Amino acid sequence: MPELPEVESVRRQLEPVLVGRRFESVRINDPRLVRPYEPAEVAAELEGERVAEVERRGKYLVVRFESGRVLLIHLRMTGSLLHASSESLPDDPHRRAVVRLDDASDVAYRDVRRFGTWLLLEPGEVEPYLAARVGDEPLDTLFTSARLGERLARRRASLKAALLDQRTLAGLGNIYVDEALWRARLNPLRPAASLDRNELRRLHRAIRAALEHGLARQGSTLRDYRLPDGSGGSMQDEFRVYGRRDEPCDRCGTPIARTSVAGRTTWFCPRCQPAQAASSSRQPSWSSRQSSV
Ligand SMILES: [Zn+2]
Repeated sequence: MPELPEVESVRRQLEPVLVGRRFESVRINDPRLVRPYEPAEVAAELEGERVAEVERRGKYLVVRFESGRVLLIHLRMTGSLLHASSESLPDDPHRRAVVRLDDASDVAYRDVRRFGTWLLLEPGEVEPYLAARVGDEPLDTLFTSARLGERLARRRASLKAALLDQRTLAGLGNIYVDEALWRARLNPLRPAASLDRNELRRLHRAIRAALEHGLARQGSTLRDYRLPDGSGGSMQDEFRVYGRRDEPCDRCGTPIARTSVAGRTTWFCPRCQPAQAASSSRQPSWSSRQSSV
């Protein structure tokens, strides 16, 4: 499933393609994409709109029109967008929508599992819609380790469950949560509210580093994720734990373990990410706490 690095990589390619362009004609083939609205109605509403900006919030693509309306796209499990010159789109049984732009190019939406959504919002509707669903942007300069601590302190869930919740932080999913926890040397089952200041700093740094790493490789293509130019990401070649059961940990050589946390398959290093913070034999927990002061 596309997470922040994947959606942001898509956004970066779409922005120059879409900004300033007018939606000349729109075809929506799948009622699931826009339900409960009628595909033909949504398509007709979109025609004539000119794109002002292409933004991202969490895993949402935010296409802002000059009219003030917004098309909110969520790729969910298997959604992807392809940009091509008109009449050159390859045949695709999983194509759910096509937008013809006024420069005679097409943006096609493909979705094998059909969980993706397109939602057209009127001016002023998008901010409250997103505010109710997504929390802080982890790559934003305003997002600090103290802020992360505030978000986690209210949670009774495990660290992994709390980080997967889009209202805690926007844009993290199964891949980058596991990668960030490995970098931070934190066990996914630790109670979210149990981290000390030092651990929060480590986690804050680790989340950003894992996301930046994915972004630099244009995300990870495991199966369906594609960029609008048809290429894939390469982050999948550099996972530290995700999908690497029984392979040696890059840091300590211990075989990576696989388990289930919050209903999601979870990979971690049993040695680098011990269940108890104080179980490190090299350093008692009080001294690591003191070193952060
Ligand atoms: Zn390890």
